[in-house]
Amino acid sequence: MILKGNSVANELKILLSKKYKIVITTHLNPDGDALGSTLALSMALKKMGHDVYPIVPNEYPDFLQWLPGNEDVIDFYKKKEFASSIILSADIIFFLDHNESKRGGDMNEILTASKAVKVMIDHHPNPQMVVDFQLSFTEASSTCELIFEFITAIDGLKFMDKAIAECIYTGILTDTGCFNYNSSRKRTFEIAAQLLSYDIPKDDIFSRIYNNFSAQRMRLLGYCLNEKMVVLPELNTAYIALTLEEQKRFDFATGDSEGFVNYPLSIKGIYFTALFIEHKDKVKISFRSRGKFPSNLFSERHFSGGGHLNAAGGESKFSLDKTIQKFNDLLPDYKAQLNS
Ligand code: 5GP
Ligand code: MN
Repeated sequence: MILKGNSVANELKILLSKKYKIVITTHLNPDGDALGSTLALSMALKKMGHDVYPIVPNEYPDFLQWLPGNEDVIDFYKKKEFASSIILSADIIFFLDHNESKRGGDMNEILTASKAVKVMIDHHPNPQMVVDFQLSFTEASSTCELIFEFITAIDGLKFMDKAIAECIYTGILTDTGCFNYNSSRKRTFEIAAQLLSYDIPKDDIFSRIYNNFSAQRMRLLGYCLNEKMVVLPELNTAYIALTLEEQKRFDFATGDSEGFVNYPLSIKGIYFTALFIEHKDKVKISFRSRGKFPSNLFSERHFSGGGHLNAAGGESKFSLDKTIQKFNDLLPDYKAQLNS
């Protein structure tokens, strides 16, 4: 049975009135919203008396490792056997910021095999996963916003505390680009205001995330903008591609390219941007758009990906050069849409 909407929270409140072994997981390459929501819900459910295990599919950047509860996170990629045994013996699995099985990476198989009750809480369009309970609201700025609503619904914020508020605030901050995009909703600001009442160090949180890069990362950004950015004014598009060799040259670490894809979007007349990062076995791509151009549909159709209207991701199994060629070949078909 799949329940949608407000009745879900009530059903889950009843379900969670008994004590359970619970796994909380999220998507591959966890970002601030993925990790913030995972840790916030883990801490809240722990305080309610459950046995809780936050499990991520792979590593996440340094600038998220200060988050409260970080030490409890199990990295599936590093501890496959241990994580698998927990997943297989869990009563309930929460999928947060994650609505497509494929986005679980190598964890997917074991998650599918699990007989646990499955719950999705997410804000991406078009959920693609089979679950028992689905809280899916695309109008929310972030999954963290939904976690705030969910905790409110199941315990009236009885267990909300500063640490949980810090995690939720982090997800809202990062998924809205510091209250820029995805944040035209009044509710987002109301929740942020409520979080501030838990005395969270708002300015420190900003610094831990955005003023925490290595010097090499800043040099890499300069290099990308100066030497690697390709601007196609007639197609309202700009892109950057980074080879493995370049990543090595700048001591590339996970998260270093975070935000790069947004820079070309502030060029006048550019409405669509892409960032191609070469990996050993694939090319990972980020897409961003301004206005109506659906970067998620573009990614879904051509690069096995998805995401939101203005922020999406995908991948390619072709070489970096071939991937860029494919991208360039596709753009003229979208000229009218890119121009509108
Ligand atoms: P980013 O470019 O920051 O990695 O991701 C932007 C948005 O697209 C996020 O909402 C993220 O969840 C989504 N996304 C990134 N990569 C993929 C992908 O390979 N598949 C799908 N379906 N969504 C993705
Ligand atoms: Mn999110």
